[in-house]
Amino acid sequence: MFNTQTYSYHTHTNFSDGHCSVAEMIKRAKQIGYTQMGISDHLIVHKNMRRNQSWQFLREKDAIHVYNNSFSDILERFKRHCAEIRRLAKVENFKVYIGFEVDYFPYNGWEEELKWFLSQLDYDYLHTGNHFFCEENCENIINMAFFKQICTDTERYKEYVQRHFAIMRQAVESGLFKFLAHLDYVRRYGNDICGADDYLPEKMLVLDALQKNNTAMEISTKGLRKIGDFYPSATVLQEAAKRNLTVVISDDAHKTEELGMDFTKAEDIIKKYGFSKRLKF
Ligand SMILES: [Zn+2]
Ligand SMILES: [Zn+2]
Repeated sequence: MFNTQTYSYHTHTNFSDGHCSVAEMIKRAKQIGYTQMGISDHLIVHKNMRRNQSWQFLREKDAIHVYNNSFSDILERFKRHCAEIRRLAKVENFKVYIGFEVDYFPYNGWEEELKWFLSQLDYDYLHTGNHFFCEENCENIINMAFFKQICTDTERYKEYVQRHFAIMRQAVESGLFKFLAHLDYVRRYGNDICGADDYLPEKMLVLDALQKNNTAMEISTKGLRKIGDFYPSATVLQEAAKRNLTVVISDDAHKTEELGMDFTKAEDIIKKYGFSKRLKF
């Protein structure tokens, strides 16, 4: 039996698309009784980011700095961010792990560049979470939020969603990630893209990869705020439990008020499905 989890390893600050500073997030985490936390702002780099079809929509968002073309361009900014977290953790006397939520893009050369980037960074862990659909070879990408505006041919949805889950599997198999975030986040964009029980064979292959690579799966309370259900759905949770996967509850907090949100509901889910292994650094 677990007590309520007193940490989240999936949180964002205004370094990426969060609304609060690193200091504010740490202070609040301490206040609500977290015993440690991970700050995992987005790390999203694709060589054709600014040439992709969804760029015209993305560029209108204020968090434009989240979406990048090159690892070397952002290295100094990321170094400063890591140093700032280390400094504030010390000031607040609180255990803060530095993580990044990585969109995995398996085009030729991407993983090597990522590894070069990481070798120069003082960080602690990565988790994966994909927010883009990839064309074949992943040379071109489309942000999920604008997918329907760009791909009006509904016949082609299946191709993108299947590839999305295949890439997720590849990400898990890369061994780079401590856990997989929001396995079926794609549901957020409508049942015509992916319903709770759609693409089950593809999702099961992701679960198999998690089991085989000893990688944890996130149970995200953010789904409750976005689609009124956990990420992932009940069926996937049930299958994950059968495989005895390691799980971790995340708030995916983008502001202080979201830290620890609905964790008691997530604990009930853990009990209900009988998960017995939990990720803790
Ligand atoms: Zn995410
Ligand atoms: Zn996130």
